[in-house]
Amino acid sequence: MTAQEAFLGSSVPHAAQRAADIIDVLVPRGAGPHPPDERARLIAVLRAYGETGPIEVSAADLTELRRAAADLREVFAASDVAVAAALINGLLAGRAHPPRLTTHGGESGWHLHVDGSDDAPWAEWFLTSSGLALAVLLAERQAPPAGLCASPSCGKPFVNVGRGAARRYCSTACGTRERVARHRVSSHRTIETAGP
Ligand SMILES: [Zn+2]
Repeated sequence: MTAQEAFLGSSVPHAAQRAADIIDVLVPRGAGPHPPDERARLIAVLRAYGETGPIEVSAADLTELRRAAADLREVFAASDVAVAAALINGLLAGRAHPPRLTTHGGESGWHLHVDGSDDAPWAEWFLTSSGLALAVLLAERQAPPAGLCASPSCGKPFVNVGRGAARRYCSTACGTRERVARHRVSSHRTIETAGP
């Protein structure tokens, strides 16, 4: 992947998947406590998505990032495309700046940002870049851009890509586990019905 391809335009799914991975770090599934290694896990995700510079995330940054992640998660939880669109519009209306092109001083190819500047706080960058990516995906698919795994024991955020029907599960593993569980319940019922 060249530097140009690594940014918005050709890699909207990449930016949306990065949002899913960051949400999964900052919004504990099942409303549990924030894990003690939350900041380290966040930095690992940012590194995995190509952030090469120094990453300093203050306590205030982390608080704001958690809030942005919770707001973005609402888009993932949206029941249909119109609800998702309205939520994205609301997020961008409140936080996004006019689209601007940047190379980060020549460190990357030209790509689109809707945060205020290259020095914008982490949360502003995260919310606006994720909102923009989800907006582009929604318009491309004419369907919800993302979802939350329907497995009650999972709930992991995932991104819908391609033209296919919206997924219900984050992975084949979750889909298979739930199918097996449903099968067990229905065969159990059959046995009960057939019993004396
Ligand atoms: Zn899952």
